Amino acid sequence: MSDSPENIQNVTVLGATGSIGQSTLDVIARHPERFRLFAATAHARLDELRDLCLRFNPVFAVFPDAARASELEQALRANSCATRVLAGAEALVDMATHPEVDAVMASIVGAAGLLPTLAAAEAGKRVLLANKEALVVAGALFMEAVRKGGAELLPIDSEHNAVFQSLPAGYAGELAPSGIRRILLTASGGPFRTAPLDSLASVTPEQACAHPNWVMGRKISVDSATMMNKGLEVIEAHWLFNAPAERIDVVIHPQSVIHSMVEYVDGSVLAQLGNPDMRTPIAHALAFPRRMEAGVSALDFFRLGPLSFEAPDLDRFPCLALAYQALRAGGSAPAILNAANEEAVAAFLDRKLTYPGIAWIVAETLERVANQPVDSLAAVLETDRRAREMARGMIEARVA
Ligand code: NAD
Ligand code: MG
Repeated sequence: MSDSPENIQNVTVLGATGSIGQSTLDVIARHPERFRLFAATAHARLDELRDLCLRFNPVFAVFPDAARASELEQALRANSCATRVLAGAEALVDMATHPEVDAVMASIVGAAGLLPTLAAAEAGKRVLLANKEALVVAGALFMEAVRKGGAELLPIDSEHNAVFQSLPAGYAGELAPSGIRRILLTASGGPFRTAPLDSLASVTPEQACAHPNWVMGRKISVDSATMMNKGLEVIEAHWLFNAPAERIDVVIHPQSVIHSMVEYVDGSVLAQLGNPDMRTPIAHALAFPRRMEAGVSALDFFRLGPLSFEAPDLDRFPCLALAYQALRAGGSAPAILNAANEEAVAAFLDRKLTYPGIAWIVAETLERVANQPVDSLAAVLETDRRAREMARGMIEARVA
């Protein structure tokens, strides 16, 4: 591949103002001869969307509210920026499927990212998947869309990107023929790994969001504290690598240097290591199968302290057990788990629910909402709606 202008890849970044979105823009900015920001979308923080339009000059920007979108467009014109600003959820799908787009960074947080991410897969794009919730909620449909659409799916989640890098090249989606015994997802254990269990009842959103190794959006930070994030990642690994629950194990590794591992039947364990910086998996996926600079400093083995490993304590992290339970139950259970968790985390961040309340709401919602087959998008969306309604009702009842 040469780096002539015809080979410039047009990239849509869904959720450009978020943590992953910003890291993606940082990587793109390092390689202007290879990547162009085609479209950037945001759900809030209009000022940040304006600033990134002024800097990157994308062809399109998307904001949900029509009045504010046109306000933004006027502000851009006044600054000689030609970016067209579109409004509404349809525009997200349009930007994910636009014929001129080569790659879509799916970095909206939560099930809200499902429709454009699915659309990018159906349209056969290179899909850079950060939005793990889309896969948790609609794994079967999503993987089917990837196959039918001829999309190229590259994992951005650091663990799955590490597994992808540790699998045989061209891994065909079956563990046994590749001699793979287990997938080992590493987890930092978050800020409360060693906190006394009886102190968890009074944990604040600020404490939960203070992750020891990664700077991330607030929702995934809380998920990391409860280890629901690892649970969602177990489900994500199931779909990405066609691995059953019993072949996916979680290893707590507080230093976050080993990003995940693949164990083979001959006793080999392959791992991917690096400094904890999401620009590594982002650059890996953007450049794949080549490699390019990500702006990440080299791992300094002589300054790393000891690397340690421990088994997750399921009493401390009930959300991890709930996610395994939902994966094993199948059907709509993962979608119910995810919807309940999104509602519970939002309530916790709003100080309407205690930290232990998150696991309680998820467990109760899984009990109370019927598990059904997820054979259509309509069924997924209906499950998501019912689970949220159930979770919200219980959260309100606890507040009252
Ligand atoms: P974030 O909260 O920092 O950013 C989320 C982005 O999505 C923002 O641009 C926001 O405007 C947009 N958004 C939010 N709600 C929306 C809605 N309803 N409709 C359309 N857009 C909406 O989140 P993040 O930390 O960047 O995480 C994004 C995704 O990547 C999540 O699924 C997360 O699990 C995954 N992920 C993040 C990291 C990380 O290091 N931050 C690592 C691995 C995976
Ligand atoms: Mg991860």
